[in-house]
Amino acid sequence: RCAKQLGSNQVRTDCARPPRELPPLMVETMLRHALRNRDLQIYYQPKVHAKSMQVVGAEALCRWRHPELGDIPPHAFIPIAESSDLILPIDEYVLRAVCEQGSSWLRQGYRVRTSVNISSRQFLQPSFPQLVQQALAESGLDPSLLELEITERTAMYDVERAVHILTQLRQIGVRIAIDDFGVGYSSLNYLMQFPVHTLKIDRSFTAGIQSAVNQTPIIGAIISLAKSLNLSVVAEGVETVQQFDFLRDSKCDEIQGYLFGAPVPPTSFQLSAFIATLQPRQPHLVPDDTH
Ligand code: C2E
Ligand code: MG
Ligand code: MG
Ligand code: MG
Repeated sequence: RCAKQLGSNQVRTDCARPPRELPPLMVETMLRHALRNRDLQIYYQPKVHAKSMQVVGAEALCRWRHPELGDIPPHAFIPIAESSDLILPIDEYVLRAVCEQGSSWLRQGYRVRTSVNISSRQFLQPSFPQLVQQALAESGLDPSLLELEITERTAMYDVERAVHILTQLRQIGVRIAIDDFGVGYSSLNYLMQFPVHTLKIDRSFTAGIQSAVNQTPIIGAIISLAKSLNLSVVAEGVETVQQFDFLRDSKCDEIQGYLFGAPVPPTSFQLSAFIATLQPRQPHLVPDDTH
């Protein structure tokens, strides 16, 4: 069905259906092939400092560039990969590629703090901290420019183990964000034990902001919670000026969403982000932060 529509670019990028309709085992086989072929592309979405409106970082999001089906978005294949061990080489590939990219940006004089999504299965591998260390060492990337995003569910799956792993990662010097925060069920008690730097407000809450005055109590609560724990807070899925105004006025530190830019290939990202923040002498994408 989708192959027939390949003439239109828009259809290509939105073409999420076929893999879902295919049996998961077949998708897995196709994905393994894609991984070997390097058909996984990494896109970068800007994170913008709410007060200064400067680009301070990026989130790496992968896309599967299928030769016939077009670009397949992560929600159509990551869950399938996560139900098998296939997510391990995928996350490893993305992690290594992001470290290489970050290191290349660093050599050009730009400190881009980049986040990588890490699935539960990868996060819980005993060798995961070693993998991170290796990817950093091989690329020469400054650890503080790498951020790992784990979801609230991943963190809560086995709290004791998560704290242990997070502590190791923190020692390596990477940053850690809790993704999709607010939709899970962290108790405050656990949250306080997680040695993380950032909370990312789930998109569903951002979507609930209708106007700059309309109170969205959960967002306010998450932001004050973050502040009281000395964490920085990012809102994802920001699409409108109203949402941006509300979040900035609520003291949300960083903003991510289509309002400032969709995920794009690294060349496009660097063009727009570097130009947006170009400084005559010292190009800095990341004003070094408090944590
Ligand atoms: P996430 O980490 O919560 O990423 C945010 C998602 O929201 C991305 O979807 C992004 O494109 C989308 N988004 C950003 N701004 C807006 C906006 O303003 N409006 C709307 N409606 N959406 C926005 P994407 O790229 O489809 O990724 C979906 C999920 O797939 C990610 O959610 C993440 O959990 C997972 N994922 C993506 N790449 C990877 C990866 O390399 N490894 C792993 N393990 N998971 C990944
Ligand atoms: Mg994320
Ligand atoms: Mg998220
Ligand atoms: Mg999300």
